[in-house]
Amino acid sequence: MTDVSRDTPLSDDEQLAEDLAGFYADPLGYVMYMWPWDTEASIQLVELTPEYYERFPGAKCVNPDCPSKDHDHAHGPDKWACEFLDQLGEDIKERNFDGTHAVRPIQNSTSSGHGIGKTVLVGMLIGLLPAVIILWRMA
Ligand SMILES: [Zn+2]
Repeated sequence: MTDVSRDTPLSDDEQLAEDLAGFYADPLGYVMYMWPWDTEASIQLVELTPEYYERFPGAKCVNPDCPSKDHDHAHGPDKWACEFLDQLGEDIKERNFDGTHAVRPIQNSTSSGHGIGKTVLVGMLIGLLPAVIILWRMA
């Protein structure tokens, strides 16, 4: 979505809008981009599994107080949440919403015991909505 006709660099806000628009059908990419997984100890509860660590090569833990003994790692959502977010991205792509014509709703459910982070995931997804709106406005 880069505008190659521009002569001036993008402002910080414009660059953020460009970045967010790129995550339209990539909820996991959005979550990895928006949260400070590399530095914020309060959210560094889970190390990314190898498949997701390889997928986000720029993600590296730089928290000197991290209790992990493996220095070559990154933090992010739980594996189940990564899988959920990836499936959501596939569902979004499948609908091919054009911003105007209604598409089938995306319905998902996760059942579990208490405290696995279902509410946190909802909070992360609420943040994705502005990215979708930005994309529609830029289209
Ligand atoms: Zn760490």
